[in-house]
Amino acid sequence: MQKYERLEKIGEGTYGTVFKAKNKETQEIVALKRVRLDDDDEGVPSSALREVCLLKELPHKNIVRLHDVLHSEKKLTLVFEHCDQDLKKYFDSLNGEIDPDVVQSFMFQLLRGLSFCHSNNILHRDLKPQNLLINKNGELKLADFGLARAFGIPVRCYSAEVVTLWYRPPDVLFGAKLYTTSIDMWSAGCIFAELANAGRPLFPGSDVDDQLKRIFKLLGTPTEDTWPNMSKLPEYKAFPIYHPATSFSQVVPKLNPKGRDLLQKLLVCNPQGRLSADEAMLHSYFQDLPAHIGNM
Ligand code: ADP
Ligand code: MG
Repeated sequence: MQKYERLEKIGEGTYGTVFKAKNKETQEIVALKRVRLDDDDEGVPSSALREVCLLKELPHKNIVRLHDVLHSEKKLTLVFEHCDQDLKKYFDSLNGEIDPDVVQSFMFQLLRGLSFCHSNNILHRDLKPQNLLINKNGELKLADFGLARAFGIPVRCYSAEVVTLWYRPPDVLFGAKLYTTSIDMWSAGCIFAELANAGRPLFPGSDVDDQLKRIFKLLGTPTEDTWPNMSKLPEYKAFPIYHPATSFSQVVPKLNPKGRDLLQKLLVCNPQGRLSADEAMLHSYFQDLPAHIGNM
């Protein structure tokens, strides 16, 4: 730990506190994340360490680079590359306007990061704007990867903040325990809509019931026809029959028709019906993506 000079606190999230710090030898600025472990735990779970270390071996331009893992008795310190800000803070600075090219670029980079992780069998499980980091040069990187897997889906925060349900798919809200990559694709859809609306969340539910109601009011209440075995999920309960909105044009008025089509293919209640990250990257919405972003 003597290697780093701790600077200001930059964030507090689900698992712990994040500080800006400087590597005293190289002068490099990094982000130090201290993961708190419960007192009743026997130190760091080895599965957690394995997952986190896996991430360290898998560098990708759209995943926040993990430089180092420092492990002591009841503490885990992760050393990450430092980014300029998170997407939530970026939204807060926008004043309700966002360049459609930025929406397209961020969405593509989000999908490319996801595609990489999914092809390595790593799920994120807790995608949200606070877990997406951006740089002034337009790069977007996924943060907090692997941690949800390693520590379980967060139900409470280390800080007083309540864990948000806004990006959770209906299958998880109904208590599905078998997570697949489709969990992240739903969250990606919610974030896509939020990007297109310059930071207005799509489904800002206040509890599980309200969350599901908001989803079904927009997409229509699923049935055993559209989603076989839905009613067998552990926490399934019946909802009123809502009919789907005929068009997404009021939901994301600034998004072009191709973007709306992509959004609609991500926001599918039946997890099996959702597009994969690879499929989404091939969608015609990205047809005119500038080459420099494809290579960025
Ligand atoms: P948690 O697991 O506790 O949610 P995060 O990794 O999401 O922790 O970090 C919490 C916050 O700290 C983020 O929302 C972001 O604002 C900030 N942060 C985290 N990592 C970095 C980083 N590498 N560069 C810049 N800011 C970061
Ligand atoms: Mg976080």
